[in-house]
Amino acid sequence: MSLHLQHFIAGEATEASDGQRMNLVNPINEEIYASAAQGTAADVARAVAAAKAQLEGGAWSKLSGLQRGQLLHKLAALVERDTDLLADMDARAIGRSPMEPRMMDVPNAISHLRAAAGWANQMEGRTIPTAGYMGKPTLSYTVREPIGVVGAILPWNAPLMITSWKVAALLAAGCTVVIKPAEETPQSALHLARLAQEAGFPDGVINVVTGYGNSVGRALCEHPDVAKISFTGSPEAGRAIQRIAGEQFKRVTLELGGKSPQIVFDDAPFEDALFGCTLGLFVNQGQVCAAGSRILVQRSLAQRFAKALAEAAAGITVGDPSQPGVRMGPVAKKAQFERVNRYIQQGLDEGATLLAGGVSRPDKGWFVQPTIFADANNGMSIAREEIFGPVGTIISFDTEEEAIALANDSKYGLAATVWTTNLARAHRVAAGVKVGAVGVNCWSPLDANLPWGGIKDSGMGREGGLAGALAYTEEKTVTVLLAS
Ligand code: NAD
Repeated sequence: MSLHLQHFIAGEATEASDGQRMNLVNPINEEIYASAAQGTAADVARAVAAAKAQLEGGAWSKLSGLQRGQLLHKLAALVERDTDLLADMDARAIGRSPMEPRMMDVPNAISHLRAAAGWANQMEGRTIPTAGYMGKPTLSYTVREPIGVVGAILPWNAPLMITSWKVAALLAAGCTVVIKPAEETPQSALHLARLAQEAGFPDGVINVVTGYGNSVGRALCEHPDVAKISFTGSPEAGRAIQRIAGEQFKRVTLELGGKSPQIVFDDAPFEDALFGCTLGLFVNQGQVCAAGSRILVQRSLAQRFAKALAEAAAGITVGDPSQPGVRMGPVAKKAQFERVNRYIQQGLDEGATLLAGGVSRPDKGWFVQPTIFADANNGMSIAREEIFGPVGTIISFDTEEEAIALANDSKYGLAATVWTTNLARAHRVAAGVKVGAVGVNCWSPLDANLPWGGIKDSGMGREGGLAGALAYTEEKTVTVLLAS
C-alpha cells in the first residue's frame, strides 16, 4: 500500500486545507510509492501561528539554554536510534543506496544536533565600555534574542542532513520553525518532527508543511510573521526568495549551487587525487552542491589523469542500488535526468572529448552513466553550469596562476579542492581561490563545528559552528544610566 504523508502542525498530522495531495515517484522504477499533503498558504499560516505562539509566552519561550540543550541531546539520541529508518526514507526518495545516508548523512545530522545542544547554552551577550551619556557613567551590554519564527526551505539531495543543520542551530538559538521539505523528499523531515515531539519539544516548535516551492515556499517567504528564511537550493529559487525577503527586510541565509574546481598539480599524490576526484564527482550521483565537477589538471599530468578517471567512471556499475555490485543509482527525478542528458549533449556539441559515459537512454528509471569529458575549456557550458549529476569536465592548465584564474572564472564560489604535495603552493592556492571552503588533499569536511556556505551565486551566510547558531539571533543593546 502506498504511504500517506500529512503535514505536521502544532504536534498533529493534518491534511492540506483544500485536501489536495501530491505523488512521490520512485526514481528506480518510476512508480508512485507515496503521496503527501499538497500544502497551501492557509496551511503555512496555521503552522506559522503555532510556531509564533511558542515564542510568545509558550512553554518553549520559558526554557533556559541548558534545557533547550537537553532536548537537543534527546533528539540526537532518537535520530541515532532511528538511523536505519531515516536512511531508508532519504535513500528511497531519490533512489540512492541507503548505505550512503546511513554512513554519512544521519551521523552528520546527529553531530549537528549534539553540537547545537552545547551552543544552546552559549547565547551570550557582551559588556561594552562606552563614553557614557551626557558626561554621566553608563553600563552597556548586549543580549542575544531568538530571531523569531524561521522558514526552513530544503532541497532533495541530502534531506535529513541539511534539515538538521538548520533545525539544530535555530533551536539552539531559541527560535521555532516551519520546515518546507523538497516536494520529492518530505518523509525524513516529518519523522524528525515526530521524534522532536517524542523527545519532549513543545508542540508547535517544529512544524512541517509539505508541498511545492511556488505555493508553500512562496507563502513562507511572504508571511509577515516569518522573521528569517533559511534556504538551501538552486540560485534561481534563491534569487526569487531574496526578492520577496528584501521587501520585508526578512533575514536570509542562502546555500546555493556550485561548480567547484578540483585543482590537480603534477606533484599531487596520484592515487589520493584520483580517489578524491572520483568521490567528489560521483557520490550521490553527483547531486551534491560541492561536487567537484570542474577538474583542472596540470598539463603534464592531464592525459594520464584523464585516462585513470575515465577508467574509474567506466568501472562504476549503475542500477538498482539494492542489487549486489551496484555502486550508483539513478538521478532523483525526471527533470534532473533530462537536464543532465541535455548538458551531456551540449558538451558533445561544443567539442569536448567524451572519455566515459554519454547520453543515457534507459528503458525504465532515471539512470545516467558516469560521464567524463576531457579537452574542455572553461567557456563551455559543461564547465560553467551546475549540472547536478555524474558529469566531470577536465580542463588543462600550465601554471599555478592560470589554475587560480580558471578556478575563479566562475559565477559560483562554494568549494575547491587542491591536490599537491607542495605545502607552500597549497597555502597560496587556498588563499587565491574565491570560495567558501577549501580542501587540501582532502574534501572539506561537513563538520558541525565548521562554517559552511558560499560566495557569489553560491549564496550568502554560513551554517555550522557557534556562528551558525548566532545567525538565528538578534543582538540587542541595553544601556543603563548609572547616575541618578
Ligand atoms: P530548488 O531550488 O529547485 O528547490 C529547493 C527548495 O526550494 C524546494 O523545497 C523547492 O520546493 C523550493 N522552492 C523552489 N522555488 C521556490 C520559490 N520560488 N520560493 C520558495 N521556495 C522555492 O533546488 P533543488 O533542485 O531541490 O536542489 C538542488 C540545488 O540545491 C542545487 O543548485 C544545489 O547545488 C543546491 N544545494 C546547495 C547546498 C549548499 O549547501 N550550498 C546543499 C544542497 C543543495
